[in-house]
Order: sequence, then C-alpha cells, then structure tokens
Amino acid sequence: MTEPIVISAKNLGAVAMPGFCPRCFWLQMHSDGIPYQIFPGIFSSIDSYGKKLVHGWFDRHQSAPPWLLPLGDIKGYVNPPHYSKFSVHDADTNIILRGTPDGIMVMQDGSHLIVDYKTAKFTVHQDELFPMYQVQLNAYAVIGEQKGLAPVSGLALIYTEPVTDDDTAKKDTYQSNSGFLMEFSAHFRAVDLAPETIPPLLAKVRKIYDLDRAPKSLKGCEDCALLQDLIDLTGS
Ligand code: SF4
Repeated sequence: MTEPIVISAKNLGAVAMPGFCPRCFWLQMHSDGIPYQIFPGIFSSIDSYGKKLVHGWFDRHQSAPPWLLPLGDIKGYVNPPHYSKFSVHDADTNIILRGTPDGIMVMQDGSHLIVDYKTAKFTVHQDELFPMYQVQLNAYAVIGEQKGLAPVSGLALIYTEPVTDDDTAKKDTYQSNSGFLMEFSAHFRAVDLAPETIPPLLAKVRKIYDLDRAPKSLKGCEDCALLQDLIDLTGS
C-alpha cells in the first residue's frame, strides 16, 4: 500500500510547466516548508475583492455584472466550497486532489463555468504560466464533476489589470479625503476542458514522490549551485 499524497490543484499545475524541476518538487513534497517563500498578500486580497463584487452584484440585481458578459449567459453563482469539501481521491495513485476555485458561475442551462481571477497585466509572462493555470482549472473540473457541479461546461481565466495610465491618474473623482481609487479592467481567456490531462499528471506525481532520494538538479540551475555553496560554507 502506497503512502497517501495530498496535492492542491495549483501544485499539480506546476508539474505541467515547461521548466518543471522534479528535484524541487520532490523536496517540496517531502518537507514541511521551503524557506524564503514570500508572496505579497495584496494579490489574493484583490482577487477576493473581485469575487465579493461579483457575488454582491448578483445578490442585488439577480443578474451578472455587465463586465462579465463575455463569459456567456450566466444566471447565478455557487459559493466556492472550502478545499476540505472540494476534493477527490484517485484510487489508482492514492492521491487526494483538492482546491478551492475562485468562482463558480451557473449558466442558463444549469451547467457550471469555473473561473480563476488573476490580478495581473496580461503579458507574455502570464502566457508562460498558462500551462499551470490550464491544469489548475481542469483539476477543479475533475473535482467539480464528482462534487455537485456536474456538468462543468467551461473554464476561464479572468485577468483584472490595474488601469494606471496618465489620463486616468488625472481624474479627480478617483481621489477623496480617505485616499484614492484604482480602476481594474477585465480580460478573459477561455481554457479548454481537458479532464483527461489530469490522471497522467497524478501518475507523474506518484512516480516522483515515491523516489527514495531527491532526483538530480536541473542542468544549469544557478539556484542549486548557490545552495550547494551555502551548504559548503556551513560545512554540513
Ligand atoms: S535544480 Fe533549481 S529548480 Fe531544481 S531543485 Fe535545484 S534550485 Fe530547485
């Protein structure tokens, strides 16, 4: 019997990135935490604010906010469940896959559209992260099909980009005695439904996790060389 593994939809997405490092992944999965991980909380606050705006609008107007119209004929929303309730067990690999989608829209035909908010300018860099987001959303689709969201009919990324041009900054209405407002413009990118991509990734996770030792470093990775220098310095 293999040891159970718990993995988030987002961490599974990392496995699909072109520069994926099995060694980094093995170390992360076998440790209680990796040092020097600092992520500014402001981005998740903005993502969560976007969710509150959308849900609040639905509650007050019984319709989707106008800026969400490109997503199709939405009739309502479902509050995204906590990851403890939004998980599935894959019997083939003994892996529990879990996560919490940012948003779940109910379409006119009763199907569900799962979305993820990304506070970012839509740049080439965001495009580079697309393979990760694609897996993350498809993992939510796989979980959703078994956890009350069937059928899942679509997946989408909603990029909310700060509007910071000079003309906007000149608007007096954006300033008040307590501070200033910042506008965000929304950009949408549909993600193909491809639930069949998830089982091979789970199998890959199981294979790497079960290795007795961390795999070799990626060739040419400067960070690993720096880490080795630190270890040599401390004489460990
Ligand atoms: S090779 Fe680079 S990416 Fe891989 S474990 Fe080392 S530091 Fe991490």
